[in-house]
Amino acid sequence: MRPCPLLATMWSIVLTCFLAPAQASELATPLEKNGYTRISSSTEIAGWLRALAARHPDHARVDVLGHSVQGREIAVLHLAAPRMEADKPRLKVMVTASQHGAAEPAGGEALLVVAREILEGNRKDLLEDLELIFVPNANPDGRDLDQRGNANRVNLNVDFVLLTQPENRLLRDALYNFAPDALLDSHESAVLKRQTLAKEGYLTDFDAQFEYSNNPAVPAALREYALQTFLPAINARVTAGGLPAHRYIGEITSLKQPITHGGLTLRNFRNTSGLSGTLAILVETKLDSRDDTWPTWRNMKQRVSRQILCINSFLDLTREQAEEIRAVTTAARQALPREQLTLFAGYERDRDHPTIRIPMRRIDTRELEEIEFRDHRKQVNADTLPIPTMLAVARHADLIQPVLDRHSIRYHQVEEVTRAEVVATRVKVAPDIYTRGKLLAETRKTVTLEPGSLLIDTAQPGGRVAVLLLDPRANSSLFRYPEYTSLVQPEEEFFIYRTFKGATRSQP
Ligand SMILES: [Zn+2]
Repeated sequence: MRPCPLLATMWSIVLTCFLAPAQASELATPLEKNGYTRISSSTEIAGWLRALAARHPDHARVDVLGHSVQGREIAVLHLAAPRMEADKPRLKVMVTASQHGAAEPAGGEALLVVAREILEGNRKDLLEDLELIFVPNANPDGRDLDQRGNANRVNLNVDFVLLTQPENRLLRDALYNFAPDALLDSHESAVLKRQTLAKEGYLTDFDAQFEYSNNPAVPAALREYALQTFLPAINARVTAGGLPAHRYIGEITSLKQPITHGGLTLRNFRNTSGLSGTLAILVETKLDSRDDTWPTWRNMKQRVSRQILCINSFLDLTREQAEEIRAVTTAARQALPREQLTLFAGYERDRDHPTIRIPMRRIDTRELEEIEFRDHRKQVNADTLPIPTMLAVARHADLIQPVLDRHSIRYHQVEEVTRAEVVATRVKVAPDIYTRGKLLAETRKTVTLEPGSLLIDTAQPGGRVAVLLLDPRANSSLFRYPEYTSLVQPEEEFFIYRTFKGATRSQP
């Protein structure tokens, strides 16, 4: 029997329509092109983003935030549906990845796929509700130099207090300029820690973990929503997608260490973002041991797919929760200049729950074993105060000014001798971020500010950050870093004062 030509043609049309969008037009990522045999270079990523954006000029554009220490560009992909009249508001969502360079490349590789799925798959409708900014390669030097830090070998994710590195200043600027309602900071965490845990014979074992902005100076409504609503929802969603997810457990480097929820200070990007009123979430996915055998080089294909699931789940959840998130971030931004603020946070042993059992993998047998750790996941906050109207920096302006500049905190320099009613303190602090500082004395008094002193009005976007940076009791304070600790002498009056409304006047 002869095949019917009409039927054959119809079939071919149906097949073409069905297959064309997925095959003929797909823009393969650099990693897909190389068959998962090595990570994409920074040049490849920037080039690919431009190629993708060029195919969708109505929905995508590439901006360059600036350049790394070695001059590599930090490119961002901006995705938004064209604006219409009487448009509904869109939630602004930012995703940053690969801050730890070549050590944690999967998040950046995944963001390319996520962007392509939105523009060329069936997910363009996401842009009806979300405006997106993707930073897939936050540390381009680290990626190309095959290292975790940037070209100065600085761990970028603990540099947001002193902001010494250009990559972080660019990221922080992008945060302030874009002002996202929600942010995902994507990381991977190595199960094999050669220098530490491996020496005790174990690997960590987990698939995905999420954490929120846990610094207690982040407005309470935002912390509450993140912890009570968003974290459980994202963990449930990722788990339902096939990747068991739970709340973040800080790096385990020894079987004898206590278990916590990890970094509490402004020095990481998640807390920096929370302190600007953004719902900021950290994700860490499993970075498999390179000693094992995997279907692709270092199990890169699966590592990227873990990240794709986490990022897509985050985007879907923020879309579903858009109204709640907008309400909570709006309230948080209104609270930033006035809500009282807590300076210190630490972890302590939970009396009601003194131990926790965590599955760990033995290196010799690769068997899972439940190990009992001390449970220090109980967060204790301390040293709460009303936000002052102004901070007065009476001495060392030359040392303080550059830090304020890097944080885009505005101040003005006193031009003539000025009297101010202030709260003066004497404080004792240790050069670390873990020990609670001691307030030795606190008095209200009138001080004389010499010309050149700095006055910082806290009613500005970085006002809350200024208080944290400049009060030594805060574990986000710059005085917790060895190069600044010696400026705080317990027997001397501290040289930065808090002032209140109408408390400064020029000397008559
Ligand atoms: Zn990381």
